[in-house]
Amino acid sequence: MIVMKFGGSSVADRAQIEKVRRVIEMHRAQRPFVVCSAHKGITNELHDAAVRAADGDGGPFAVFDHQRRVTDELGVDPDLVEPLLADLDDLLRGIRLVGELSPRSLDHVLSFGERMSVRVVAAYLRRHGLAAEAFDAWDLGFVTDDRFGRARPLPDFATLARKTIARLAPPTIPVVTGFVGRTADGVVTTVGRNGSDLTATLFGAALDAEAIQIWSDTDGVMTADPSVVASARNIPAMRYDEAAELAFFGSRVLHPATLLPAMEKAIPVWVRNTNRPAHPGTVISRTGTNDRAVTSIAYKEGQTLVTVRTPRMFEATGFLDELFGITRDHGIVVDVIATSEISVSFTVHHGTDTTALASDLRERGWEVTVRPGSAILVVVGHRLRSTPGIGARILGAMARADVNVEMVSYAHGSISFSMILDDCDVARAVPVLHGMFFDEP
Ligand code: ASP
Ligand code: MG
Repeated sequence: MIVMKFGGSSVADRAQIEKVRRVIEMHRAQRPFVVCSAHKGITNELHDAAVRAADGDGGPFAVFDHQRRVTDELGVDPDLVEPLLADLDDLLRGIRLVGELSPRSLDHVLSFGERMSVRVVAAYLRRHGLAAEAFDAWDLGFVTDDRFGRARPLPDFATLARKTIARLAPPTIPVVTGFVGRTADGVVTTVGRNGSDLTATLFGAALDAEAIQIWSDTDGVMTADPSVVASARNIPAMRYDEAAELAFFGSRVLHPATLLPAMEKAIPVWVRNTNRPAHPGTVISRTGTNDRAVTSIAYKEGQTLVTVRTPRMFEATGFLDELFGITRDHGIVVDVIATSEISVSFTVHHGTDTTALASDLRERGWEVTVRPGSAILVVVGHRLRSTPGIGARILGAMARADVNVEMVSYAHGSISFSMILDDCDVARAVPVLHGMFFDEP
């Protein structure tokens, strides 16, 4: 069995869904288990509707027309989605009446996208000769905890999934909701935005799939963001740890948590392009045969760089423990760290409010600077650690791009070399780095 996941752009409209049909048809012999996102744009429209409803807005909301348009275009029975649209309408009215949008209600609203898309996609596939059947993931064992917006399946998920799948008649192609789940008490949850990939790898691992294919609209994972580097190209093969690092540091192709379930079971993950099904894409596996010094370059903008300086750190013990105890107490996630004898710099996520943290730190008599508008630029490759002079080449490229590097982090044996720079320097730095590692002979 293989898991095939189709993202929002792959199921955007009839033309795209027809491509999906052909791709599934091509892989029929491998017994596909299909996971789908909502049609492109639907989840954002649901989000918008929920926020507006909580604000007292009674609509109309774009999502209703949008879903009806896709359903109609596919020529499938409107009754597949009308009951769900009616429920959604009730739910939005309820949110407007209470004037409040809890994480729980938001998950409920967002869940409608995938629940509607699998129904119409499966119906379309059936009409065109495939034995497809739509499922809400929870009916195949995807029962989760109640951490809304980041729910995860309960420990018996794999057993439950295997049992329910075993009961399906063999030619059936399940078409399953990505992204959504439900608690044991029947409350709807989601695994988090862009989480359908994660649903796919979780099912893949639970069902011991031979392979997991993530179908989207790029030729696999690229050597750099193609919107910044015109000559960015496909990476044929890479390792799990490299792909995880890239996902975390901004490559938009995969959700950061996606690879863990596949990694644990050593199931290869393919990233493929629905628009170019003949292109092999990228295969991510344990060994990932790639002999370049650098596998890819990624970046994440809008980070905040916090620096804490105090002479007290000199020859003191427990300083880092104290410092990161404070970030922990503020619930702040720290990404990249560099230390000197009397200072520590670290970056925090986009959107993190550091005001309370900074004043807490200053109260201890520490000098604190906070620099928003920073970017993390990361060079990833498992050969970094065994290639002499690579750090010099990277920093040399930054000098040639006339970019000031504010901070560098490279741990012993690491597969990623991270630099912090000004947001506005990213567009200059990435092409020069990419040119050196990928375009020069
Ligand atoms: N539809 C959800 C989102 O847009 C999940 C996904 O597509 O992966 O976030
Ligand atoms: Mg996606």
